[in-house]
Amino acid sequence: MWSFYNPVKIHFGWNAVNSIKNFIYPGKALIVTGRSSTRILLKKLLEYLKTTPYVLFDNVEENPSAQTVEAGIELCRRENCSYVIGFGGGSPLDCGKAIAFLADKNVNVLDVMYKRVLVEKTGLPFIAVPTTAGTGSEVTPYSIITDTENKKKISIANINSFPQTAIVDPELTISKPSKITASCGLDVLTHAVESAWSKNSNEISRALSVWAVKLVLENLEKTVKDGTNKSGRENLMLASMIAGVAISGTGTTINHPISYPLTLYKGLAHGFACAISISEIMRYNYPYCREILDQMAFFCGLNSNEQLIERIENLLKNINAPTKLSQMGLGENDLEWLTEESFSKNVERNPAPVDKKILYNLLKKMI
Ligand code: NAP
Ligand code: ZN
Repeated sequence: MWSFYNPVKIHFGWNAVNSIKNFIYPGKALIVTGRSSTRILLKKLLEYLKTTPYVLFDNVEENPSAQTVEAGIELCRRENCSYVIGFGGGSPLDCGKAIAFLADKNVNVLDVMYKRVLVEKTGLPFIAVPTTAGTGSEVTPYSIITDTENKKKISIANINSFPQTAIVDPELTISKPSKITASCGLDVLTHAVESAWSKNSNEISRALSVWAVKLVLENLEKTVKDGTNKSGRENLMLASMIAGVAISGTGTTINHPISYPLTLYKGLAHGFACAISISEIMRYNYPYCREILDQMAFFCGLNSNEQLIERIENLLKNINAPTKLSQMGLGENDLEWLTEESFSKNVERNPAPVDKKILYNLLKKMI
């Protein structure tokens, strides 16, 4: 038996955001957004929301911290907000989602992250409006929050923490510079591949994953080179959202945990940090998930897993993504701490066995 659950109401299309007023709630909104890049887009959002009471929380950093979530919760309570709108990349969306989920509960954010304090009740309604095509956070229950003191990225997730509504408008991604487009597109690719081979995958999630991989392979390079390419932007936004639906039930496996120390210690953008391990792990996992990787290759018009890996390696090179840990100044001396920091319970979902020794040897091949 398998089960699939994703309760998010999705509204997808060009100018979808213009109709945001149709989806709002009574009372005051807390609008959660990033610090700078999305200012012009935010102005437009506020025009579409005119006469709607709101408070702005525009202080979300990349890889949002537990302290930022606490500050947002405090503002949300002080202003008596009845729902939350997240507007921006994965960072503001994850932060807004966590604020909405926890604002009506008497819990500490770090406790929820570490002690997995049970939070069974649904929070305030959350409307997610992504401006990057990458994380799929608009359709997942996950908020990836950083403990800055101990340099750890931890997911808050619960069956009750899904957004209520996702307004997915490719127009909002047109302003993304090529480097962010590239990194976010690789995040989509990694979500799709990790979800496909996850031990938790099922018929629905695998179909979505395979479709998302094809969309990324066909659209990412041309959109990185020309950000005004409308069909490229639309297909990447679609890929991001459907890969998000896929991982919303399966979770990620091994590439995401490997990414966290690369982001936290080396400042590597999330998608680049995830994709750096993709080809090595595709080779390692293949004997344990032949069927889905063969189907993926075939659906992408390729004949084998090796051809798919080669296609992905070429894509990484063509969009200037790092492909080796040494490009981050990491060498053999770093393998021990890197293994410790990368090892997480997510690897239990990986189709091939992973213990610390195996992980060490896999990382060694990536130097
Ligand atoms: P991000 O950290 O949200 O944003 C990266 C940069 O892009 C920021 O400087 C941001 O500006 C800028 N930006 C966003 N939209 C833009 C636009 N339309 N035009 C120009 N610049 C724009 O990046 P992200 O890759 O989307 O999110 C990464 C985060 O999501 C990580 O913390 C990662 O762990 C998490 N994540 C979550 C999930 C999930 O399921 N919840 C899945 C994967 C990853 P501002 O400074 O103004 O924000
Ligand atoms: Zn990701």
